[in-house]
Amino acid sequence: MHDLLGRRLGNYRLVRLLGYGGFADVYLGEHIHLGTQAALKVLRARLESEEQERFLQEGRTAAHLSHPSIVRVLDFGIEETVPFLVMEYAPHGTLRQRIPQGTRLSIQEILPLVRQLSSALHYAHEQGVIHRDVKPANMLLNQRDEVLLSDFGIAAIAQSVHGLNGKEVTGTAAYMSPEQIQGRALPASDQYSLGVVLYEWLTGDWPFHGSFTEICSQHLTATPPPLHEKRPDIPVAVATVVERALAKDPEQRFVSMQAFSDAFAEAYGNEIAAPDEDEVTLRRSLLTDPTLYADEGSRGASSLPPTMDAPVGGASVGIPSLPVVLSGKKTGVSRRKVIIGAGVALTGAAAIGGATWFLLAHATSHDASEQFTAPPSPTPASTRVPSVGTTVFTYRQHSESVLSLAWSPNGQYIVSGSADTTARVWKTTKDETLYTYRGHAGLLNSIFSVSWERNGKAIASGSSDQTVQIWEAATGNRLTLYQGHAARVLSVAWSPQTTSIASAGADKTVQVWDAFTGKIGAVYHGHTDSVYAVVWSPDGTLIASGSADKTVHVWEAETQQVVAHYQHTDAVYAVAWSPDGTLLASAGADQRIQIWDARTATQQTTLFISTELTAAITALSWSADGKRIASACTDATVSLWDVEAGKLVYTYKEHAAPVYTVAWVPDGPYLASGSADRTVRIWRGR
Ligand code: AMP
Repeated sequence: MHDLLGRRLGNYRLVRLLGYGGFADVYLGEHIHLGTQAALKVLRARLESEEQERFLQEGRTAAHLSHPSIVRVLDFGIEETVPFLVMEYAPHGTLRQRIPQGTRLSIQEILPLVRQLSSALHYAHEQGVIHRDVKPANMLLNQRDEVLLSDFGIAAIAQSVHGLNGKEVTGTAAYMSPEQIQGRALPASDQYSLGVVLYEWLTGDWPFHGSFTEICSQHLTATPPPLHEKRPDIPVAVATVVERALAKDPEQRFVSMQAFSDAFAEAYGNEIAAPDEDEVTLRRSLLTDPTLYADEGSRGASSLPPTMDAPVGGASVGIPSLPVVLSGKKTGVSRRKVIIGAGVALTGAAAIGGATWFLLAHATSHDASEQFTAPPSPTPASTRVPSVGTTVFTYRQHSESVLSLAWSPNGQYIVSGSADTTARVWKTTKDETLYTYRGHAGLLNSIFSVSWERNGKAIASGSSDQTVQIWEAATGNRLTLYQGHAARVLSVAWSPQTTSIASAGADKTVQVWDAFTGKIGAVYHGHTDSVYAVVWSPDGTLIASGSADKTVHVWEAETQQVVAHYQHTDAVYAVAWSPDGTLLASAGADQRIQIWDARTATQQTTLFISTELTAAITALSWSADGKRIASACTDATVSLWDVEAGKLVYTYKEHAAPVYTVAWVPDGPYLASGSADRTVRIWRGR
């Protein structure tokens, strides 16, 4: 079609060939009256009338898009069966030309491109238009080097036009989402394609290679090689954002292009705003001050504020805060539908923290809102020791299920995380909230896990919002926002020795990172399904992780070398370490507690729960003296077991709905258990 040079199409004379693609040639055109320049895309194929109508329709759609980062369509016509599109002329070429294959860009260079492209696509999606062919060759540059996305919807036309050349199709296939390959383009398909583009810009390589068919089949089934493997210096949070955009299931991607772009910027922003050395030292010193929480007398009333909602956001420590919705609204979540949790309390030195959570797809028959009537809270007679099972205190301030809890190291306070989107810090003798942490606020967010730092200074919380947040226990001020997970965070645990955090979640990973720098130390990829429980060995050298893949893995925190591997017959929701570090207890959907040697995985004891068929064990806590294990169950009970005798010694039945979390006070005879009945109950356990 190069013979069109010099010819007139519509009001334009074709003065120069600018380029050509799979199905069209692009000419620089000059308006015959106005002398203005435009780019004319001239389709090579002659269209049948039905196809012409479709092309026209697409042209109309594109022409109605008006956005600073979308090439403006100025006109459209068909001259003697030759269809053509008149567009704004972009004199600086395409990003394909500007960024040759194999080039790696810095995140700083990528960020403005992501912003512009996402904004353009977000706008188009709002107009009901899917691009369908997002790739660097369709990203043009104007005089000011700003990006202009071109060819909206043209891919759909291309598909109806014959004679596509193989190279072009392969070039497009490299960026094509699985669902689009299957003939079903969605707005999220554009996000996937942009994800591939970012993958390419970050690593200098496409995620998949091969023939057209090979690439397509990889898009459908193969996991892209982790970004980190190709470029280890990319912050994990950034890699995670890109990998999420590349999820096979469109539902797993970000809800919108804007959300994608925000997450990318946030991940990067976090990285550049990482605290400097001085600040890290300052934060660490906060943690090592022995006076706070050392004992009731020395801390005084001032270290925890009165009953006031704590501020959210880390302005005071220089971490950019999330756009947090400060909403106290109820979530509207139906407990019948969704939430069952599992808590894991660490033991011995680590006993202060750790509660792990899960969501079960299948429903529980309990519905707290219908069934729950609070039992009277018995007050212990001051002169005698309450007997085992006596409830000494009930906390009722949560408006939804309590999913996680952790004691302060001195046993005076509890932090409880809930499906009401909040975590609350309260004194264990008063049914009042000292303050409410709302850093995870947002519709339907649940706090699946909380863990109290060993000196009492900071609390870690993990949520369905996919973040882990570290906040100052005394004030609720956020210190760190960790966004390394690509799905909800189900379990969080402080190292008993250092400032490391282990966090795990539905993204199947366990990540070990520093609580104050947010710097990642390791990512454990050994599980093949959601990881519900993560616990440190009391000496801080090993990590045990329990997963829906029915296994518990014990591995070295430093090297991720697997030390032991224990098999259950169903999903594992809870893991607890014996205080002396030799044994592990694990439990979950297979309704039995297995006790086994932590290093050899040799079976020691099996404790059978005799309960209704659908019940699952959601949480385990090993008492500091090593003699008792408490197990929480979805049948609304907590069982106490004598470890040595392998016998059930008591069943606590005061909760009115599934129990999701249980933890022994760090050194004492009491237990706290949290439930879908919205209460936390403190009761005598031995
Ligand atoms: P396409 O068929 O969209 O892939 O376009 C083929 C080539 O034409 C591109 O690689 C660009 O070099 C060039 N081109 C397309 N549209 C424009 C435009 N609006 N302004 C300048 N050059 C363009």
